[in-house]
Amino acid sequence: MKVKIQIVLVVILLQIIVMTNAGCFDSESKPAVLGDYAKHYLQDSKYPKLLIEIDYVQGNSPSNQAINILEDKINKHCDKQQILIDKDSFSSSKSTYSDEDIRELEDEHRDNFNGNEIIVAYILYVNGRYSENEDVLGIAYGPSSIVIFIEQINGINIPWWATTFIDHTDYEKSVLVHEFGHLLAMVNIGYQSERAHESASPYENHCIHEDCVMYHSIETVSIVNLISRDDPIPPYDFYHDCEDDLKKLKSGDY
Ligand SMILES: [Zn+2]
Ligand SMILES: [Zn+2]
Repeated sequence: MKVKIQIVLVVILLQIIVMTNAGCFDSESKPAVLGDYAKHYLQDSKYPKLLIEIDYVQGNSPSNQAINILEDKINKHCDKQQILIDKDSFSSSKSTYSDEDIRELEDEHRDNFNGNEIIVAYILYVNGRYSENEDVLGIAYGPSSIVIFIEQINGINIPWWATTFIDHTDYEKSVLVHEFGHLLAMVNIGYQSERAHESASPYENHCIHEDCVMYHSIETVSIVNLISRDDPIPPYDFYHDCEDDLKKLKSGDY
């Protein structure tokens, strides 16, 4: 089980490295990588507004509860005067998605890019599974791009004792906030935290605290191991070390 989880994480991290080096450019036409827009998401100086563009495969819409939680976290940690949502659906005949498929979907369907005081976060919701690993629930694959495998999230088996406390939207909330956390450079993506809270290899760029939304298990089916009878709700908040990093990135200390 441990080996399997490690393989999953290695795959995700490799994808982050591979996918962030391809195809994304900022306004100066330099390749932008994951974490490069973190300060623009956190601060209001250049982009006082945030537009969340969500494109989903028909029948795989995000839940309002998950979007609301994401907005709550953005309002808590980012200085934005306004958050706009642009939601659209498209049809797909696929049931597995490779890295290339995901990039192609974004090329085809993404309508919005940074500019005019608005910074964009692009979120794809797809049916089916990630071609490299069916355990993956979400990937932050570019400086402003996230894919959520909502069918995999909705396929998670909720333990019977937890069904009175949670449903699949609780897992969705955690995965969505986690991937947005990577866009905010969590953990140690392009900066170095003064606090020793980054997980060791192979869980780099994740937080050591199991009750933090940036814990590595959250973006794989291992998320089920994070709930217990004492605490049946999966985490969807930044624990104090990540919260401190976000504050220091926002203030310019990092
Ligand atoms: Zn992650
Ligand atoms: Zn944390």
